Amino acid sequence: MSTRVNTPQKIRFLKFIYSHDPGVKPGEIADEFGVRTSTVTRTLHELKDAGYIWYDPYRKASLTDAGEELTRFLLRRHRILSLMFTRAGLSEKDACTQAEKIEHLVPKNHIDQICRSLGHPCKGACGVIEHDPACCGVM
Ligand SMILES: [Zn+2]
Ligand SMILES: [Zn+2]
Repeated sequence: MSTRVNTPQKIRFLKFIYSHDPGVKPGEIADEFGVRTSTVTRTLHELKDAGYIWYDPYRKASLTDAGEELTRFLLRRHRILSLMFTRAGLSEKDACTQAEKIEHLVPKNHIDQICRSLGHPCKGACGVIEHDPACCGVM
């Protein structure tokens, strides 16, 4: 599902769009992350081609259903990994930073395994953790 969302930058952009319903302009993303607008628009086109966002030049970018589903997974993945690190003794800030560095490399089946080993937690240092029925068997 996330084969084309394999960079920390795409993940950051998707999370940012997700938290800014009903959409954001490329310039807002550029300001938020300190990157050039041309870099943002190129990445937005890639995300659009992958079917995760609606986007046209000079319009706001917003998530498609597939993009929203993906981003919910991205948030869950980040929060599970971050919680794993805090349980291992890292500070919340360090846990969040380290999770951001590696999260794009960790596949869903491993996240489900970690979620299970942590007892399907509902909350981590980085926020509420949603559960995937495929992982937990219940919502
Ligand atoms: Zn975090
Ligand atoms: Zn779970």
